[in-house]
Amino acid sequence: MTKLQQPTSVTSHIHSHGKSQLKGGEVALVGSGPGDAELLTIRAMRFIEQAEIAIYDRLVSEEILALLPENCERFYVGKEQAKHCVPQDKINQILVDQANLGKRVLRLKGGDPFIFGRGGEEAEFMLQQGVSCHICPGITAASGCTTYAGIPLTHRGVAQGCTFITGHMQNNGQLNLPWKSLTCPTQTVVFYMGINTLPKIAEQLIKHGRDINTPAALIRKGTQPEQRTYRGTIGNLAELVEKNHITPPTLIVIGDVVNQLTAKQLTTPGFLDAKYYVEKDVIAEVIEKIA
Ligand code: SAH
Repeated sequence: MTKLQQPTSVTSHIHSHGKSQLKGGEVALVGSGPGDAELLTIRAMRFIEQAEIAIYDRLVSEEILALLPENCERFYVGKEQAKHCVPQDKINQILVDQANLGKRVLRLKGGDPFIFGRGGEEAEFMLQQGVSCHICPGITAASGCTTYAGIPLTHRGVAQGCTFITGHMQNNGQLNLPWKSLTCPTQTVVFYMGINTLPKIAEQLIKHGRDINTPAALIRKGTQPEQRTYRGTIGNLAELVEKNHITPPTLIVIGDVVNQLTAKQLTTPGFLDAKYYVEKDVIAEVIEKIA
């Protein structure tokens, strides 16, 4: 039995208890997590199995799309940065129209639908139009990607809290963020959609008082076979992006937790190999070599 067949038996069992049933005319707004199909929740998997049409974004991985039922219609509405394939109001309307045709509609989104996913807007529109929707969380990129890169978002004595924030520019071309609130040394900060504004992010963090030597990481295509993690400091992040031609989807992680477990890239995402463990006091040296 392959690894992807196993959840089916688990979900069938849950189905027999009447949970997560998607009826015709309803929408399931489902978070698919950061890419690895094994990070889907059982509830997400149940909705996937019942879908008659799947309306999905760019961040939903091929591995997850392969789980859709054979006869399920597929509708791609992905967006890249400011370049919208299908405008948001059109997506909202498609969801309502498909539900009104009496179909079991799956709205599949990368990560968690309610974290930088515009899921709230979609749900609001559906409700206004009289369409009921199931809502199903997904593992958000900040959680999935950092864990698969061996970075604990909080760590006793190192980081007491964590902030998720967007690095995407506002419509006026500005990046107005509460910079001062992101400079506490015991706070991890995770930027979504920040790769294109990274030089500005680094500059502002330093300007507002975050130490230039604070460890930082870039995680591209987290939890997927192509996952790459680049470790450095706030001071050399922009250089890392340029040197390695790093493009979205990439997450930026700022804080001492970056080097808590390992300074080296993991050979297998999500696996901490004891032979790569580096004692804390030699980590600085390793960073210099990597950067
Ligand atoms: N709703 C999603 C976020 C959508 S915003 C969630 O909860 O994860 C899109 C941004 O998320 C990307 O620009 C990138 O910063 C981040 N992201 C999503 N999936 C990612 C992945 N697999 N690897 C790295 N970054 C990812």
